[in-house]
Order: sequence, then C-alpha cells, then structure tokens
Amino acid sequence: MAAFINGGVYAIVMTNGVDSFLWVYPVIASTFFMVRPIEALGLNAALTLACVFLPNTFDVVPLMSFVVTVSMVSVTTFVYASRSETQFRLLERLNTIDALTGALNRRALSTDIARALSVAERNVTPSMLAILDLDHFKMVNDKFGHVAGDQILKDLVTITTANIRKHDRFYRFGGEEFVLLISDINDQQAFISTLRAAIKKELKTPDGEEVTVSFGVSAWVPGTTEDSWLKNADDALYRAKASGRDCAIFSDA
Ligand code: GH3
Ligand code: MG
Ligand code: MG
Repeated sequence: MAAFINGGVYAIVMTNGVDSFLWVYPVIASTFFMVRPIEALGLNAALTLACVFLPNTFDVVPLMSFVVTVSMVSVTTFVYASRSETQFRLLERLNTIDALTGALNRRALSTDIARALSVAERNVTPSMLAILDLDHFKMVNDKFGHVAGDQILKDLVTITTANIRKHDRFYRFGGEEFVLLISDINDQQAFISTLRAAIKKELKTPDGEEVTVSFGVSAWVPGTTEDSWLKNADDALYRAKASGRDCAIFSDA
C-alpha cells in the first residue's frame, strides 16, 4: 500500500506537473502510518530522490526548499512513529505479563495454547501442559504475611524459568496457580521430576521451611482442545491434591 501510494503520487506529479506537487508532502508523512518507521524513511528517501529528477518542477519550486521541507517532515514523523512503536511494544508487553511475578499472564496463555495446539498437530514429538498449585499457600500467607507470600510466588517463577528451556513458557494462571506449556518433549516424566527437584531444593519460606507444589500434567493427544487440555491437567491436579500434595500426577485422559 505504501509503495503503491508513493508510486502513485510520483505518477500524478509526472502527469499533472507542478500543480500536483504539493501532494508529495502529505504522502511523505502518511507513509509512516503504513509501514515501520525505518521502512518509511527508506521509501521517503526513494520518493525524494525520484522527485529531484522531475522535469520542469524545480523551475517553480526551489529545490533546496523542497529538500529541507521533506527532510523536516520525514524526521519529525520518524521520531513520532518510532515513539509510538516503542509505546505499542510496551503496551503489548504489559498486556501479556503478570505484574507481580513477571510470568506471562492468562491472556498470553490463551493465545499461546492455540498456537501450541496447531504446532502439536504438525509435530512428532509430544507437547504437554502442566498446572502447578502451591500447597497450603493460605497457611503460608497466614503464618508469614502476604509480602512473604508474594515473594514466594516470585521465587517460584524465578526457579521455574531457570529450569525450563528457552521456548517453554510459564504463566500465572491466577492466585497461586501457574501453567507450564512445554513443547517438543520426549521424556515428560524426567522433565517434570527435574523441575520438581529444583523447586523442592530452592523454594523456601522466610524461615527456611520447604514450600511444596502439586502438579497436574496433561500430555497432548490428537483431538486435544484448549478446554480439554486445561481440564485434563486440572483433574490431574485435583488428584495430586487428593493424594497428599507435593507430587505430580499425569492425566491418563
Ligand atoms: P491447596 O494446597 O489445597 O492448594 O491449599 P491452598 O491454601 O494453597 O489453597 P487455597 O485455594 O485455599 O488458597 C489459596 C491462597 O493463595 C489464598 C490466597 O491468600 C493466596 N493467594 C492468592 N493469590 C495471592 C497473591 O497474589 N499473593 C499472595 N501472597 N497470596 C495469594
Ligand atoms: Mg494452593
Ligand atoms: Mg489454588
């Protein structure tokens, strides 16, 4: 679209001559609203250069005035567009990150599960989803206070993030529940048990007591949907809680 409009304005000026020349300025500015700032800058440079070679135009319009005006329009719009782009990225980040723990949030989870499902359908190696829930966390809060509780939630995110692979994702599902989305994993049992061991070793209350976590794990199987994946993991988590907590139960659904 941007290339079409830039080419179009050039063709119009070529055809109509200097009468249509003023159209070049709004086109130069509008390009920044269509493509990335750096790409717009490139297109504008090309259009400006092409305009310099227009016949008869610069007998009427002073060339220097044209170049200076175009440069100013380009630079100011570039700065504006770059700042907008940075702010957009920041908003996008804030929209998908949990403010307390820095883990991804539930909104991101929904988008990523949809993507993971389509990847899983094409992959040979299986994916899995696990729900993690801190055990007796209400008691931890009651005993040590909410600030200490918050710190434990943050610690869990730090420990887990350090023990999963780069493309695995960890989300805060709500409260003291988290979701782990793991793709391309052959030995699911080993992966979960390594992670559990790390959490057991490192996740502690302020007075050094162990804080345990229950896991409900659901492997991807053909026909899995977002709802069924979460439900199977949640059912497995329920069984983990019922069988005494501090363990991982794999869904057999
Ligand atoms: P269970 O082992 O059955 O999961 O017991 P539990 O006490 O962990 O579960 P329950 O659902 O009864 O309580 C969850 C607690 O998690 C209650 C709430 O105070 C705490 N919690 C939820 N969100 C936060 C949070 O953001 N910060 C802190 N500090 N605590 C939270
Ligand atoms: Mg809990
Ligand atoms: Mg819970």
